[in-house]
Amino acid sequence: MKEAVLYEEIGEGRVKCTACWRYCILKPGQTGFCGVRTNLDGKLYLSVYGLVSAMHVDPIEKKPVLHMFPNSRIFSLSTTGCNYACAYCQNWDISQRRKAEGTEITPEDVVDEAIRLKCRGIAYTYNEPTIFMEFAHDIGVIARKKGLINIFVTNGFETDESIAMAKDFLTAATVDFKGNAGTQFYRKYISVPSAEPIYHTLEGFRKAGIHLEITDLVLPGIGDSTEELRNMLGRILDSVGNDVPVEFLRFHPDFKLQDLPPTLVETLERHHDIAVEMGFKYAYVGNVPGHRYENTYCPGCGRVIVERNVFRTTKIMLTPEGECIYCGYPTGIILEGRKSAPPA
Ligand code: SF4
Repeated sequence: MKEAVLYEEIGEGRVKCTACWRYCILKPGQTGFCGVRTNLDGKLYLSVYGLVSAMHVDPIEKKPVLHMFPNSRIFSLSTTGCNYACAYCQNWDISQRRKAEGTEITPEDVVDEAIRLKCRGIAYTYNEPTIFMEFAHDIGVIARKKGLINIFVTNGFETDESIAMAKDFLTAATVDFKGNAGTQFYRKYISVPSAEPIYHTLEGFRKAGIHLEITDLVLPGIGDSTEELRNMLGRILDSVGNDVPVEFLRFHPDFKLQDLPPTLVETLERHHDIAVEMGFKYAYVGNVPGHRYENTYCPGCGRVIVERNVFRTTKIMLTPEGECIYCGYPTGIILEGRKSAPPA
């Protein structure tokens, strides 16, 4: 438990949390939608500060981050709580636990553990990191000083205040859209009014110099509309351009949507093809082991330049500076050992 930074006192003991776009207004004794930020006597406290619900070492490709430091080990951690209420969440046992539970650990000890386990960086993942931004910040600042990268796997509901704090430490963000960003989908299955704030967040991350990747979880019949897909992709293009990687993820039944079948692979391929047709240089299909669209194809010559298999990068046909070895196309993929300054 620690006093939060991202909030304002708005009179009569009430506070406005500024960590995410819900902007919860809380009277003394009230806790926000995420379940981990509570008004105690007119001050906002983060109840999961120093309390971790899960810690694992994952390959960076599992986050997914596909265009930075392939085959790196990433120390992944979460707290409890979330600012979304996804009916299909695969981590629902921690994200929908709206109370502070977990193993006590200091920011210093998180970083030491990541280094001991020979990790290239730390990912704040499994539940939404924006809700524990102050804890992530304190870990991330130490991690950056010690040469580690920091990755958010996020639903993109960061406010400008959160992004300003993220600038101190965040190297990369994978921003997850759900169900092609359809408004009815967001309302019915996530309890969020719309995906609109996410486009603003993308721009904010890009302006802050944070490496960006995008995923979209495609749900059969309820979150796979072509019209909404085109609208979402058009908005992403307007916000951050066509060099951001986009990956279409297969849904697997979980939590309250046990009866919905997995997404057809053809549906994911159609999404991939529409993204390419609309001008995206790097489109992928995820959660389909061995699929050809796990690979990166060179936008210049069309050849496979990064080969992947599930969460392993198996072949890289790029110069250390990320250029295609066949045609010299500058992909922007960030490799270890490049001469230009590596991201921190
Ligand atoms: S982080 Fe939690 S308390 Fe703050 S605005 Fe979002 S849901 Fe509300």
